[in-house]
Amino acid sequence: MTEVLLSAKNLTKRFGGLAAVNDVSIDLLRNHIHAVIGPNGAGKSTLTNLLSGDLPPSSGSVTLGKLDVTGWTPEKISGQGLGRSYQKTNIFLPFSVWENVRLAGQSRQPFAMRWLNRARQFASINERAEKALELAGLTYRKDSIAGTISHGEQRQLEIAMTLATEPQVLLLDEPLAGMGTAEAERMVALLQNIKKNHGILLVEHDMDAVFTLADRLTVMVNGQVIASGTPAEIRADAGVQAAYLGE
Ligand code: ADP
Ligand code: MG
Repeated sequence: MTEVLLSAKNLTKRFGGLAAVNDVSIDLLRNHIHAVIGPNGAGKSTLTNLLSGDLPPSSGSVTLGKLDVTGWTPEKISGQGLGRSYQKTNIFLPFSVWENVRLAGQSRQPFAMRWLNRARQFASINERAEKALELAGLTYRKDSIAGTISHGEQRQLEIAMTLATEPQVLLLDEPLAGMGTAEAERMVALLQNIKKNHGILLVEHDMDAVFTLADRLTVMVNGQVIASGTPAEIRADAGVQAAYLGE
């Protein structure tokens, strides 16, 4: 049986009277891309914030591997193998691509690493940064200043920065936002490659990309899951057509 990397059970997040996420359950398997789609305001970003620990849930639980991480800080959750990118970029524009990836690897290093001596940490962070750049297809931009590379390459850099923490799970919030066709195709190919060794929870509006990439889909509207299944099942779902895809 395929390993469940991340599992949310009955997650709810209330902001005052609004249930932005309402009783949502979701499983992410290793080597799977699980896409979360839905119109603006559906609660997708809030859901990713609950999974990463950036927001505490009002109720429900989050399990990462075998650990119940409900209520943990983002740093602690990251240390257990969950990496995320944000809709708003974390890139430090005056620094080189390499420096950004290396800093990301350093700031979110797994807890076990902190007990190793400095020399070993140094080698290991560099190795992880090299691997992350390679996997994100950006090795050729290593020495470029981050502010001077294209928009598509900056999104790849964000993926590399996430990978530098050596996560098992990646939470990606709209990695294709603002991309042209060529850039989007490049990112789709990258994500297909990355999923060979990871689980990816993907929030994305580009439906061509979503239906190309996703092994499973969860459709949210007004905080609730209205459908969950394979791409074929979701395509055939009349409720989804009405609520979202037919828009
Ligand atoms: P999506 O990412 O699907 O567009 P969000 O998760 O950003 O949706 O938002 C879901 C709902 O929760 C929206 O109605 C939004 O206005 C509300 N919301 C999100 N974050 C907050 C917050 N920090 N405080 C109050 N309301 C919020
Ligand atoms: Mg959002």
